[in-house]
Amino acid sequence: MKSFTRFFVAGVHPHGMKSLSAETPIERCPAPKRVYIALSQGVGKPSHPVVEVGDTVKMGRLIAKADGPVSANLFASVSGKVAEIAPYTDTAGNQSRHIVIDNDGLDTAEKPFTPLLNPQPEEIVKRVSDAGIVGMGGAGFPTHVKLTPKKRIDVYIVNAAECEPYITCDYRLLTEYAEQVVEGAFLLAAAVGVTKVCFGIEADKLRAIEALKRYKAEKNLHNLTVVPLKTRYPQGAEKQLIYAVTRRRVPSGGLPMDCGAIVGNTHTALSAYYAVREGKPLYERVMTVSGKGIRKPSNLWVRNGTRYGDIAEACGGELNNTAKILNGGPMMGASQISRDIAVTKTTGSLLFLTKDEFVVATSSPCINCGKCGRACPMRLMPMYIDSFALAGDYSGSKKYGALECIECGCCSYICPANRYLVQSVKLAKKKIKELGL
Ligand code: SF4
Ligand code: SF4
Repeated sequence: MKSFTRFFVAGVHPHGMKSLSAETPIERCPAPKRVYIALSQGVGKPSHPVVEVGDTVKMGRLIAKADGPVSANLFASVSGKVAEIAPYTDTAGNQSRHIVIDNDGLDTAEKPFTPLLNPQPEEIVKRVSDAGIVGMGGAGFPTHVKLTPKKRIDVYIVNAAECEPYITCDYRLLTEYAEQVVEGAFLLAAAVGVTKVCFGIEADKLRAIEALKRYKAEKNLHNLTVVPLKTRYPQGAEKQLIYAVTRRRVPSGGLPMDCGAIVGNTHTALSAYYAVREGKPLYERVMTVSGKGIRKPSNLWVRNGTRYGDIAEACGGELNNTAKILNGGPMMGASQISRDIAVTKTTGSLLFLTKDEFVVATSSPCINCGKCGRACPMRLMPMYIDSFALAGDYSGSKKYGALECIECGCCSYICPANRYLVQSVKLAKKKIKELGL
């Protein structure tokens, strides 16, 4: 039978650069002497500390409680003493409060939850909420909120596309922890009354696909589908992924549940497995450390609150020519201003890039080539949104669909005039909201 891969329309095909770390098995990053756990680690309100300076904590202890529904619990990632609750620079470059713990080096652990062997859907939702599980692909949206949809869901999709260049942590997780990721995905699906799980994964991630298919065959999982997707950026964007996997379209301004789907990240499924089956809260994660500026590109288990400098040291140190540090991938990641910033639950990669790995170019006037429109996966006209935004006419930007933008950066990547298109669209979105247009 002829095999084929599914795809979405438009997008770009940047250099993958994944070979730097793709075949490097996951190792453990040594726990640092101090961890700096940010109270704000996602889209919602910062968590509220429930420990005080001087308290002794075990690894896995609740140290900050969710403040409202779109916030998440935080847990100690080492055992030791709370040294400070004070402002430090966070991944967004802002000063925000962190809980600082001096590591006693003993890793004395506590498991705040009992393992659940045959949980009911509401028990899974509660456990996911209690254990501080969030979407670990970027935004950090609390997973339990997604698990209480107001509409009927019939498919749970695991986002295993990992389409950003350099990043290989999901690929390694699927290759090495396929059983736990699949079981975690079925638990999350069961929480919303769904029995069908689909993994959307780029077709060139052969070992991960093999591992998933092997586990499916071993356990005779008829309700598990592995869907190979074309290797193209942004294949892992929610709307593009749903379309590629199910051929359903999320309506404009709508959510995945509007077409009967929920999408969850690969690592989120693994964390849900540990929380439900082993009673382990989310205080560490696997991330990729890569780029030509790091001596030993790696995939590592890293404790929440570990500073970039400590991570670089665990990877053999930096080479002398690092010109930029990115939290996230080169398409959507954010430049970092210091090595003293600490990773959070959503840090999937840390890139140490040299000058030849990114472009610093002067922007010139638009030449009306139309490439940005052809590359835009949301079928927008970024050049028009940009020109209205530059003229301060944000209603014009809105008319051309600025609010539909998923901030993937394809337009900026493809533009021969090096225009700052995604930055301009982001500004327009912010202004449209601020001005209530
Ligand atoms: S306009 Fe937005 S969605 Fe379209 S390519 Fe640019 S960043 Fe991506
Ligand atoms: S890609 Fe750049 S130069 Fe071409 S139309 Fe878009 S903004 Fe203009």
